Amino acid sequence: MPMRVLDTAALLNWPLSKLQGSVVPKQRDELLRIAKEREYLIEAAQLDWQTPSTKFLEDAKNLATTTGDIAGLSEVDLEILALTLQLGGILITDDYRLQNCCVAAGIDYEPVITEGVAEQWKWELVCTGCRGVVTSSKVSASKGEHGHCPDCGSPYKMRKC
Ligand SMILES: [Zn+2]
Repeated sequence: MPMRVLDTAALLNWPLSKLQGSVVPKQRDELLRIAKEREYLIEAAQLDWQTPSTKFLEDAKNLATTTGDIAGLSEVDLEILALTLQLGGILITDDYRLQNCCVAAGIDYEPVITEGVAEQWKWELVCTGCRGVVTSSKVSASKGEHGHCPDCGSPYKMRKC
């Protein structure tokens, strides 16, 4: 089975049971910047941290230049693309520019959010006082304070929906 290279959206959204594949060390910095609460999960996951070689990084840049996508790609994106080329793997990404590069290079890609829908929980906050419900993309499965209801001032409780 070809190696899967995961882009940061997979690190952000996938449950631990699915988090298997290759990633570049710069994604750790990116993740810590935007979702510190995922750190423990990423440490526990079976990820293969690899930096692509200079040669494949050059290939990735040339590829993205050819397709016209390079302006929209970050350094991390280019490293992920380079690693996919290097491993002959499948790139897991929702970024259409990266997908475009995969098509041009003849490498396979898969979107981040497709399979394993049953494993994805949605969360909502319920007011312990007036039972008001907040469904928000900001609600995450992390522990801790969830704030108070603006209507009655009671604390929110998180539940799966
Ligand atoms: Zn309330």
